[in-house]
Amino acid sequence: MEYEPVIGLEVHAQLLTEAKIFCGCSAKFGAAPNTHACPVCLGMPGVLPVLNRKVVEFMLKMALATNCRINRVCSFARKNYFYPDLPKGYQISQYASPPAEHGWIEVELNGGKKRIGITRIHMEEDAGKLLHDERNPVSHVDLNRTGVPLIEIVSEPDIRGAEEAAAYLRRLHETLVYLEICDGNMEEGSFRCDANVSLRPAGTEAFGTRAELKNMNSFRNVQRALEYEIKRQRYVLEGGGKVAQETRLWDDTAGVTHSMRGKEEAHDYRYFPDPDLVPVVIDDAWLDSVRKTLPELPLERRERFVRDYKIPAYDAGVLTASRELADYYEELVRLSGEPKLASNWVMGDVLRFLNEEKKGIGACPIAPASLADLIRLIQAGTISGKMAKEVSEEMYRTGKPPEKIISEKGLVQITDEGALTEMIAEIIAENPAQLAQYRAGKEKVFGFFVGQAMKATQGKANPQLINDLLKKMLAGDK
Ligand code: ADP
Ligand code: MG
Ligand code: ZN
Repeated sequence: MEYEPVIGLEVHAQLLTEAKIFCGCSAKFGAAPNTHACPVCLGMPGVLPVLNRKVVEFMLKMALATNCRINRVCSFARKNYFYPDLPKGYQISQYASPPAEHGWIEVELNGGKKRIGITRIHMEEDAGKLLHDERNPVSHVDLNRTGVPLIEIVSEPDIRGAEEAAAYLRRLHETLVYLEICDGNMEEGSFRCDANVSLRPAGTEAFGTRAELKNMNSFRNVQRALEYEIKRQRYVLEGGGKVAQETRLWDDTAGVTHSMRGKEEAHDYRYFPDPDLVPVVIDDAWLDSVRKTLPELPLERRERFVRDYKIPAYDAGVLTASRELADYYEELVRLSGEPKLASNWVMGDVLRFLNEEKKGIGACPIAPASLADLIRLIQAGTISGKMAKEVSEEMYRTGKPPEKIISEKGLVQITDEGALTEMIAEIIAENPAQLAQYRAGKEKVFGFFVGQAMKATQGKANPQLINDLLKKMLAGDK
């Protein structure tokens, strides 16, 4: 029997607000343990949370970018459980009335497009972090993370394979980073994913029993964990067994998932409305003001690049991988007026230089204006394409403008037709044997003459001009 995987993803994204969600503590990652903590986020008795307005605005940006319906009133709920990284004994989250529902995003797969539904997006606070000491039988707790704002994005069970799941995650991630509401760092836990997966006989409607996978900290690991889990469940079902509803942990080293807890131990969180927080009312004016701040999203930008700049979809995909890169490219297009050449230079040299040093476009020493100058110099014939490669490397290394490098290195291309004609006449005169061969129809000899001419000019002659002159003069035309 053929089985079809059914997958739904829950993503937690840490928001890039300055302050935490319910107090004034810094939400920044990486400070010394327990230095970003106050009575509110430590959950002391008698303190009161105050909602950070920015958190709502960031959540709204993502909700709008993912085509969600915005509920104009939403409220917070307490999710009760005990764990040493949760000093209050409850997490403030949203349950019965989420602020955003019924959204979708589009993913591209093997050339086709598919819509994946988003069930809901809600706001919540993060818990602290336990650090387990490897050498001693103790654990430490860092409460800098308690109260750091998160949004949780829950997908519909619309995903039908591991690769599709990874494509969906990449699209969500890219959108969050474009919106500048999340840094997207998966290793630091700014973007975390739990994956729910079940199998059903192909062609049937009803869902099978699902397992929830945790502990994957890269797109690749999500894909690997799902691939493994799909195989495992198929094996169980083919053997006549039943898939247990459970939470399973991905073990990256072993490449397998292990059962962590079963349904019997499933949490009963006793959600109830948080009495310390009033419901959030999102009026038209607020929603409109947030809508106005939305940038063009990656997919729209990609499509516009293909349409307006007439570059291949592949190029557009690479060039819109980050907002800064797309901005860089567009500035270069504006300054050079050459979308295709601009794309070749950015995708070729610029990204290659940056990738070699694992740097982003923000750290690129070549300003778009300098690169536009370089393109202009090539087109004007001042330098050859080969020289331009040398110049671009030097531009990257030193940050100098191309004209300066060209004059320092004496790279100017020889385009003086008179001088080149004289030089070619000399070369022809010195090589009568080759000339006779060429005239007898041995066209390969042409390359010999090109080589001689380039050697005589130390590679500085305009290749097109050399070609044209040689053709004419070898044929005996004057
Ligand atoms: P919980 O909060 O207990 O994890 P939810 O109902 O919120 O449960 O579902 C979480 C995720 O699981 C959603 O993304 C949903 O699409 C997905 N999901 C639900 N049922 C199934 C199933 N049978 N197979 C795969 N995914 C599922
Ligand atoms: Mg879940
Ligand atoms: Zn605090």
